[in-house]
Amino acid sequence: MSNQKVVIVTGGARGIGAATAKLFAKHGYAVCINYKSNTVAANNVVKEIKSLGGNCISQKADVSNEEEVLRLFNNVDRELGKVSVLVNNAGILKQQSRLEKMNADRINLILNNNVTSYFLCCREAVKRMSTEHQGSGGVIINVSSAAARSGAPNEYVDYAASKGAIDTLTKGLSIEVAGEGIRVNGVRPGFIYTDMHADGGEPERIARLKSKIPMGRGGMPKEVAEAIYWLASEKSSFSTGSFLDLAGGL
Ligand code: NAP
Repeated sequence: MSNQKVVIVTGGARGIGAATAKLFAKHGYAVCINYKSNTVAANNVVKEIKSLGGNCISQKADVSNEEEVLRLFNNVDRELGKVSVLVNNAGILKQQSRLEKMNADRINLILNNNVTSYFLCCREAVKRMSTEHQGSGGVIINVSSAAARSGAPNEYVDYAASKGAIDTLTKGLSIEVAGEGIRVNGVRPGFIYTDMHADGGEPERIARLKSKIPMGRGGMPKEVAEAIYWLASEKSSFSTGSFLDLAGGL
């Protein structure tokens, strides 16, 4: 096994995760792209990275499922080596709705996919990175959302609350493992051109809201990826428990 640094990007087949996977590959990382079901999209990212000479595998695993998370990390240990950077990025939202129309199934689905998943992946990463577990350190980046600050009223308060939990997880864990060689930081994107807005029932959401964004435009997945890469790099070596807001001024 080579000395290449290893990154796991959850939800790396599309959107922000795909842009992040490609950027890390460009910087010489061995990349594991995790995804839930879209094998075609995952294969396309792997193919693109490999065509540029990169080292990349894909792993289908639902990161809200504990057994599948264990399998994901064990497979990466075996195929690429010990993880040095975890980008917790996989996330979902549901049809825009006011809170009084949300049932327990929907709320629990959002919390399982957006919160439990991040906890489980953080746990497996810490077990491998922490100097307390004979690891040699590492970095975790949690992808939160501008919604954690806005609350996303009338759209998806459940999703926004799940991202608020991610900010708290990031803060607390960063302090827990600060003395063990692990930095934990977050990014809070907003209004990024990806498929996610269609899942909320409004593919053209950014066009509707653009005039309210101080910079007057939506963001590209690559612009979020660059922030994630910086937080994972030595250039941010004294930064932990920090958040970068990437929402054009909102
Ligand atoms: P996206 O284009 O919808 O892509 C989501 C990715 O996550 C897909 O690869 C999907 O897998 C994967 N995924 C979802 N649930 C999963 C699970 N349980 N296990 C494994 N993989 C799973 O989303 P995006 O817009 O790039 O969002 C990425 C992250 O940024 C999310 O955490 C999101 O909340 C956050 N974010 C996005 C925006 C925005 O404006 N787009 C704003 C703020 C925050 P499949 O491809 O197999 O479906």
